[in-house]
Amino acid sequence: MRGVTHRYRTHATAPAVLSTVNLAIPAGSSVAVMGPSGSGKTTLLHLMAGVLRPSEGSITWRGQDLAAMSDRRRTRLRRADFGFVFQSGQLLPELPAEENAALPLMLGGTSRTEAVAHVRPILQRLGLAGMTRRRPGELSGGQAQRVAIARALAGSPGVIFTDEPTGALDSSTGAAVMHQLVAAAAAHGATLVVVTHDAQVAGVCSRTITLHDGRIIADHAAGGAR
Ligand code: ADP
Ligand code: MG
Repeated sequence: MRGVTHRYRTHATAPAVLSTVNLAIPAGSSVAVMGPSGSGKTTLLHLMAGVLRPSEGSITWRGQDLAAMSDRRRTRLRRADFGFVFQSGQLLPELPAEENAALPLMLGGTSRTEAVAHVRPILQRLGLAGMTRRRPGELSGGQAQRVAIARALAGSPGVIFTDEPTGALDSSTGAAVMHQLVAAAAAHGATLVVVTHDAQVAGVCSRTITLHDGRIIADHAAGGAR
């Protein structure tokens, strides 16, 4: 991101919720975004993920500027290159775990058999081997969130974005899910960007960026300041 500023309203006096943010994230790294409520974390995530277009500045992904793209192209790129894990899984209650995980592939035109065959080993690596036929209602919160992680990985994304992925889990389950998310992203070569207000969650990532009033006020590697 270079010189990224964002206002939700277009008039000149609208407040900038992000101001001239400069940020480079190396491929394959895991980054936590922290900061108080209202500091701009979700906005930053949505800009990086191409959900929002910035008011000013550029956001480059694999040589392409997301800020300069049409909404249609950005949507296509988002579907092809990015994976998302939401706070409470957002799984479809009537589908078994393996079909929930396979859904992005099926929506992209892959047959159900092929899509499920692709996600089964991912689910197994996440410790869900015996549960692939269970519906979300038959899974614990932590298990359901691991299905959501498998779904985010199904399309082999370059980046996984997630906003408070453990927010609905108790802290020990949340910590376990976070470790699995980081390990699964690394195993798939995906970059990981995690918004969280939980220092324990952030501690699992290799780098933490702190926002305050729409500006980056700290940027630390896991082993210390950089
Ligand atoms: P955080 O995720 O750190 O809590 P957000 O990125 O959600 O912060 O919000 C940053 C600021 O932008 C807040 O002041 C919030 O009220 C404002 N904001 C967020 N979404 C919208 C929106 N859709 N329209 C107008 N203002 C918004
Ligand atoms: Mg938020």
